[in-house]
Amino acid sequence: MIPYGRQEITQDDIDAVVETLKSDFLTSGPAIEKFEKRVAEYCGVKYAVAVASCTAALHIAYLSLGLGKGKRLWTSPNTFVATANAALYCGADVDFVDIDPETFNLSVSALEAKLVEAEKKGTLPDIVTPVHFSGQSCDLKQIKSLADKYGFDVVEDGAHCIGASYDAQKVGSCTYSKACVFSFHPVKIITTGEGGLVTTNDEEVYQALLRLRTHGITRDPALLHDKDQGSWYFEQVDLGYHYRITDLQCALGTSQMDRLNEYVTRRQGLSNRYTQKLKHLPLQLPTVLDDCESSWHLYVVLIDGDDAKRRDIYNKMRDAGIGVNVHYIPVYAHPFYKDLGFDSAGCPNNEAYYSRAITLPLFPGLTEEEQDYICETLEKLV
Ligand SMILES: *Cc1c(COP(=O)(O)O)cnc(C)c1O
Repeated sequence: MIPYGRQEITQDDIDAVVETLKSDFLTSGPAIEKFEKRVAEYCGVKYAVAVASCTAALHIAYLSLGLGKGKRLWTSPNTFVATANAALYCGADVDFVDIDPETFNLSVSALEAKLVEAEKKGTLPDIVTPVHFSGQSCDLKQIKSLADKYGFDVVEDGAHCIGASYDAQKVGSCTYSKACVFSFHPVKIITTGEGGLVTTNDEEVYQALLRLRTHGITRDPALLHDKDQGSWYFEQVDLGYHYRITDLQCALGTSQMDRLNEYVTRRQGLSNRYTQKLKHLPLQLPTVLDDCESSWHLYVVLIDGDDAKRRDIYNKMRDAGIGVNVHYIPVYAHPFYKDLGFDSAGCPNNEAYYSRAITLPLFPGLTEEEQDYICETLEKLV
């Protein structure tokens, strides 16, 4: 089976991890800060905090901005459940904003319409989390101008898009947001095995992230309540978590960063090739906006037909050894969310999208022969 996504591990990656294994530090050593600095420099942002997963990154990013009981977070339904779950971990209420029918990102016009209604009812959100679906940034300038008007914070879910650019800056620069998170799960752009990271330019958010990553503990003299203790002394000042990433993982991450640009270039080349080979077929192909450079985490096509036709094509592609996938089951459609009272009302674009979408295999090691086979098989089926 050709998978839909796959990591690439080189000898350099293996050497970097083995070197760390032989060092004094396996868990919280110098490799973590080295990785954080590397990502921060790449993104053009002041601070980066690496954690055990992107889900953990979302959770502490939300907490550091004060999300909690009685607060509200809005996001796109076209995402992995973690984006919304992390807000529920905080005790906040979640709601969903419909997607744009062309980019499949959170729709700015749907967001604006929902904000107008919420203002009347006194139910404006505290945080909005745009998800940069498939590797293409949302329209952050417009979202930021709504944030300024309606008084919410923006947290970018950039799980798909380390290496992508928006408005000539790398995603993660936080020019238009309070924080941005990345995932380093093996199907994403670069990997640490499991892992995630938060970027921010806000010093207070940064300090909160550091505490929340490790039990809410601080050794910072400025924060200690009792300053007259010995050098063994630390205090727990918040309820934090054990969300630390390890040196082993960060050694792999830094080594993978060496190839980030190369990975994005390869993904982009393969995506252009898909578009060339599929453009004569009755399919809606991905659109890239002028101010965006996608990292091409996913290549999603919409078939010309209904859910039954999509299922038939999906099944036949799988039977042919092609690991197509569907991204995403709408968050509101999961039984857990249905039990909370969610349904598809308010998200007609997402419903139409979800009934027609198929994700084709895309990863740096995908060969042109494999890609030709995928395109020929799809052509026969549509
Ligand atoms: C993968 C993913 C996550 C969660 O990442 P983990 O590192 O597995 O916790 C969150 N949001 C989106 C959009 C993702 O694709």
